[in-house]
Amino acid sequence: MRTLTKEDQKNLTPDRSLTLLKEGNKRFTNNLKLNRNLLQQVNETTAGQNPFAVIISCMDSRAPAEIIFDQGLGDIFSIRIAGNIINDDIIGSTEFGTKAVGAKIVMVLGHSSCGAINGAIQNVQLGKLSSVTDKVRRCLPKVKDTHPKASDNDLIPLLSKENVLQSIRELRENSPILSEMEKTSEIKIVGGMYDIATGLVDFYE
Ligand SMILES: [Zn+2]
Repeated sequence: MRTLTKEDQKNLTPDRSLTLLKEGNKRFTNNLKLNRNLLQQVNETTAGQNPFAVIISCMDSRAPAEIIFDQGLGDIFSIRIAGNIINDDIIGSTEFGTKAVGAKIVMVLGHSSCGAINGAIQNVQLGKLSSVTDKVRRCLPKVKDTHPKASDNDLIPLLSKENVLQSIRELRENSPILSEMEKTSEIKIVGGMYDIATGLVDFYE
């Protein structure tokens, strides 16, 4: 597997980029990861990088984007934060990855058994962590409205999905650059959920 060149990146469409992520996760779950010479990739990326994707995912140690999508050096921008929430710095980083460097797809990736989601349901308050749980909690009324009988445990996957969708809405609403690039089909913005029990990513389309 060779390192992405500027030309490779230019020729990739957002749809093809999505396919690359799907194929990568398939390889990961089939234990067929590509044979990469990472030290060679260090050399090949010294002068610059041409990643095809920006992935905003949780900091959870079980969900590293490069590994679960079987990607090498120079392939993806990986933005990781508890609960895959959005703030201005994350929007700015995403704008850098797409508008400035040319990535074709933005993915917000949640995962099962997420501590930030559970913490939001339990209303955990702890130092600055409260800022994360409060942000996730904003999705809770909507989820409870549509599933009034759900137990706290049942709420976890529901809130995880709603939180991903909310993050995508915030990217669109708070970044004229990203929403414009999406309108002109320069990029695609998609969501998904990683299952920590199976290694599979469910792509929301
Ligand atoms: Zn998490």
